[in-house]
Amino acid sequence: MKGLCILGATGSIGVSTLDVAARHPDQYKVIALTANSNIDALFEQCLAHRPQYAVVVDAQKAAVFKQKIEDSEVAGIDVLAGPEALQKVASLDSVDTVMAAIVGAAGLLPTLAAAKAGKTVLLANKEALVMSGDIFMQAITESGAHLLPIDSEHNAIFQCMPGGYETGERAKQARRILLTASGGPFRESPVDTLHDVTPEQAVAHPKWDMGRKISVDSATMMNKGLELIEACLLFNMSPDDIQVVIHKQSIIHSMVDYTDGSVLAQMGNPDMRTPIAHAMAWPDRFDSGVEPLDIFEVRQMDFERPSLERFPCLRLAYEAIKAGGVMPTVLNAANEIAVDAFLNEKVRFTDIAKIIEQTMAEFNAEQADSLEIILATDKQARDVAEQVIEHKLN
Ligand code: NAD
Ligand code: MG
Repeated sequence: MKGLCILGATGSIGVSTLDVAARHPDQYKVIALTANSNIDALFEQCLAHRPQYAVVVDAQKAAVFKQKIEDSEVAGIDVLAGPEALQKVASLDSVDTVMAAIVGAAGLLPTLAAAKAGKTVLLANKEALVMSGDIFMQAITESGAHLLPIDSEHNAIFQCMPGGYETGERAKQARRILLTASGGPFRESPVDTLHDVTPEQAVAHPKWDMGRKISVDSATMMNKGLELIEACLLFNMSPDDIQVVIHKQSIIHSMVDYTDGSVLAQMGNPDMRTPIAHAMAWPDRFDSGVEPLDIFEVRQMDFERPSLERFPCLRLAYEAIKAGGVMPTVLNAANEIAVDAFLNEKVRFTDIAKIIEQTMAEFNAEQADSLEIILATDKQARDVAEQVIEHKLN
């Protein structure tokens, strides 16, 4: 029996993880669930899954939530408040597996705490890895933790690199990674119409049902940019050996091209419960609740090269990983600020890339060799991005 902690339980990935866990009560026991502020959803999850701990980051909401729990049939659940409580539950002795499913940089410290505590880390929170890079990978190696990718592409690549993942042995024989992308909702829209895109249009993803931030990232293809950096770190590959491929059907979730000419692909219906169940059962497999793939219904699969003119965020991600050092941290922070401003209708869709590019121009690719440098850079880049937005608006 494995103890499970879900960081970001109320989000899209968190909900899918609980769905998979509930199918395997003989293998997983839910120990801790966390939410930022959605206490109604967290309360329902507490009734259904009976964790020992529930964390609400927002202190005021936590007080209301605590009272609600105490007055309910699940009185006795330990309710904790504040961001430090995330790190505490991610490193509890009773926790074996931590699903890192908080969105954005807010997930870094708790995910790092899980890595340092030697937990099996199921990584959905790509921003945490992108911003901390080698520091995160080192923490995994030093503690002997297992790191299993949840991002469907990286999970697919992992499945296409059996055996040698943790030592990087298999990656040495891989010539190229073909990182697939749906292309998002604006894959075919005329480029000159993109400046009129609204937040509602941007979050309506054609293939995947996801949180708002990653949906905007998919529309700009910054999601693929972050995933490019994620793939370089996880699989020890150079960005020049990663080709992004637009595959609009989202049936192949990525491919690995080996030196002998073999190309391995992982396929399946676009449902995050497949990579989640893969990582939770690894090295075995178990039921995920996902419908079997009907290959006759798919009938056809298309592949295209992405246009860096249409998707400047993808170009910026290539530039950031090639520059190295703190540049991926800057890219990620500026993107979080820009996407938030877009969702709050302060800037246009096409401003997102401009804000990131102008923010990156203010930084040098200084070495990112400590957590302090990373956290300080993240903060500075957020401030610069806010200033860029301010100047544009004034
Ligand atoms: P979401 O917005 O649906 O959920 C985010 C979760 O994080 C919620 O539980 C929320 O309470 C919590 N959260 C938000 N801000 C927080 C903060 N400041 N402190 C603590 N908790 C906070 O997002 P999602 O779609 O589930 O995505 C989660 C992560 O997984 C992201 O990093 C995303 O890129 C990645 N991911 C998601 C998908 C998907 O299909 N949804 C696929 C691949 C990767
Ligand atoms: Mg993905």
